[in-house]
This record gives sequence, C-alpha cells and structure tokens, in this order.
Amino acid sequence: MATFEQQALKIFYENLPPGLSDQWEKKIFDLEQLVHISKALSSNLELNALIDNILNITLAQSQSMQTGIFVSPDVDAHDFQLHPKSIGFDFDHRHPPHISLKSDFIRYLVANSPKNTGIALSELEKSLQSAQISVTAEMNMLKQLSKDLILFPLKGRGGNKIAGILILGPRPDGMSFMPADLAYLADLASIAAIAIENARLYLLATTDMMTKLKIHHFFQTQLRECREESQESGRPLSLLLTDIDHFKPFNDTYGHQLGDLVLQEVARVVMENVGPADICARYGGEEFAVILPGKDLAAARKTAEKIRKAVQKLEVPNPTDIGEKILKVTLSIGIGLFNPAVDVENKTLIERCDQGLYKAKHGGRNRVETIETEEKTDA
Ligand code: GH3
Ligand code: MG
Ligand code: MG
Repeated sequence: MATFEQQALKIFYENLPPGLSDQWEKKIFDLEQLVHISKALSSNLELNALIDNILNITLAQSQSMQTGIFVSPDVDAHDFQLHPKSIGFDFDHRHPPHISLKSDFIRYLVANSPKNTGIALSELEKSLQSAQISVTAEMNMLKQLSKDLILFPLKGRGGNKIAGILILGPRPDGMSFMPADLAYLADLASIAAIAIENARLYLLATTDMMTKLKIHHFFQTQLRECREESQESGRPLSLLLTDIDHFKPFNDTYGHQLGDLVLQEVARVVMENVGPADICARYGGEEFAVILPGKDLAAARKTAEKIRKAVQKLEVPNPTDIGEKILKVTLSIGIGLFNPAVDVENKTLIERCDQGLYKAKHGGRNRVETIETEEKTDA
C-alpha cells in the first residue's frame, strides 16, 4: 500500500518534462539511500561495530577500493588514528598512522573544511601552502596511504571540532568522482559524524574513566538484559566478582596514587583476559564484576583462573622511591552461575558471587571459589 508521499511523488514524476525525471529519480534514490543509512547508523552505539558499518557502506557507495577512517582510539585520547578496520590501505596495525588533535592540520580542517563536499589531498596541500601552514608530517603520512586521497572531515553537531576524518582512495578504473558524487558522500559523512558522536557520548556516559571499565549502573542494566536473554535462549550465564587482596595496606604503604595506578593495571589485565562478548565493570572501589554470557561454571572457572594468574604475573614498575621497585598484587574471585529458578533479580546472583569471594578470602586469598545453588539449574 503506497503512502500518501509515495503517491504524490508518482504524480510528480509522471508530470515532469522528459529528461528532468531521470535527475529527480536519481536524487530521490540517493535521498532514500541516505535515510536507510542514517537509520542503520544511528541505531548502532557500539563504536567499533559502527565504524565497521560506516566503512563498508562508504566503500559500497563510493565504488572506491580504499576506505579508511581516522578516529580517536579511546574516550580520552589525544589523537586520531587510522582505524584497524580501514579497508585497502597498507599500514602497521600496531602503530597505525595518527594525527594529533592539537595539530595545525586538524585546526585548519576544523576551521576551513568545506561543508558540502570532500577535499582532495592535492587541493588541501595547495590551500595549506597558500595559508603558509606547514604540516609536512601529516601530509607525508597521508600521501603514503595514497596520493589521490579524498578527505571528508567528520563534522558533527559542534562547529569547533571534528569526530574524525573519512578518507577515500581512487576508484579502480580511474573514473573520477563527480561533484554530485562528492556531495552525496559528504552527506553520508555528516550522518557518520553524528553517529560517531552519539556512540562516543554513550561510551563516555557508561565508562569509568579511571579504569576504563563499565560503570556500576551499566553493569546492573546489562546483567538484567543478560538474565532475560539466558532465560529465553536457555544459554548459560555466569558472573565473576573480583576483589584485590590486602589493598588497604597496599594503599597505606604506597599511597592512594600508586594504588590508583595498580588498580588501572589490574583492570587492563582483567579486560585483556576475557572474550569480546564478556562485560567488565567496576562494581565499586577495587571490586570488579565480569558478566560472562554463554559461559557455564566450567567455562567461567577457566576465565576466572586465567584472570587470577594474569594478575598474579602482573608487575607494575614503581615510579617512586617508596618500598619495592616492582609492585605486585593478587586477586580473589567469586563465581556464580545464573539460575532462572532462583535469580529473579540481579541481587541473588551477585550475592552468591560475594559468598564465593568471602570463601576465597578465608581460604587464603589469590584463589577462585564458586557457590552453587541447591536448586537444579536448567543450564
Ligand atoms: P581483602 O584482601 O580482604 O580484600 O583486604 P583489603 O585491604 O583489600 O580490604 P577491602 O577489599 O575491604 O578494602 C578495599 C580497599 O581498597 C580500601 C581502599 O583503601 C582501597 N580502594 C578502594 N577503592 C580505591 C580506589 O579507587 N583507589 C585506591 N587507590 N584504593 C581504593
Ligand atoms: Mg573490597
Ligand atoms: Mg580487597
């Protein structure tokens, strides 16, 4: 059933003079495409998945063989880095090309980038030269990626900064980009910019800035959602609660600042030892929670042991003259398996992990303990 707008468009087309209708048809097709793209991108709040999405859409829409994106790798990063999912460029993923956010290059792009089109690297170089701005390092780095790059600074809502830079290599057959293509891709870049800003705001609002783990409220919400998912699918779900051993005396000896440093390192180790679907959160203070969707007790124990051993191995160089030169801590971990018959709220599952933690502390610390429910689990 055609909507009123579709019917109106049909009448509009049928009454257009010959020749004009093709142009209109193309414009309307483009607009429809952009609406679809906008919907797809705005519903994606996970930054890496979003960027993957933007890159694939841009590649398909531009018919270029190379599509990349410079974005901040972290919420509080000071530079843009070429995202690892960038397509068709040859670069070292461990040390990706980067541009400082405070560089003259970025400042120039923010102040002078055109709104409705992309800018060719050669054009940008000329403009920079005539403005007597020397940004050799950035220009050389970009030329190395491709001499024929087109740049789309990702301007979102705010006028005084950009969310990143979308870059395109040439089309494979040497076919050049027409002004209408560039205008279309610039519209796509504007949509991408706002989607990236949204994902970044979401990340900022849900991340504990000190440890980079998720905040407590986010943890509770995710755990509720994971419980619902587990109940519906019948897939197992486990939870870990970790607590650093003797951390109070550590703070008393080394001071709160070194305590913070160690806490950050432990958080990093925890995140590095879980799977991509697992959710690590700062439960509170020096206690972390890890949600393990799809993992039964045996799998959860494996992950917990992996984390415990990795923390035991962790050595943090002491930048002060106080005490030991290398700082070390250990972790106690309590495990709970979600039991739909018992855990109608988050609380009971968390309590079981807490009891496991208590048992681990009393059993001598630096260990993993599990508390099982008496009722049979379906999982
Ligand atoms: P236990 O082995 O029984 O866990 O001993 P503990 O000393 O670690 O005891 P507990 O877990 O109760 O103490 C938590 C301590 O962790 C209290 C506080 O000094 C420290 N702590 C909590 N949050 C932070 C933080 O954000 N930074 C620092 N530096 N220390 C913290
Ligand atoms: Mg504690
Ligand atoms: Mg502790």
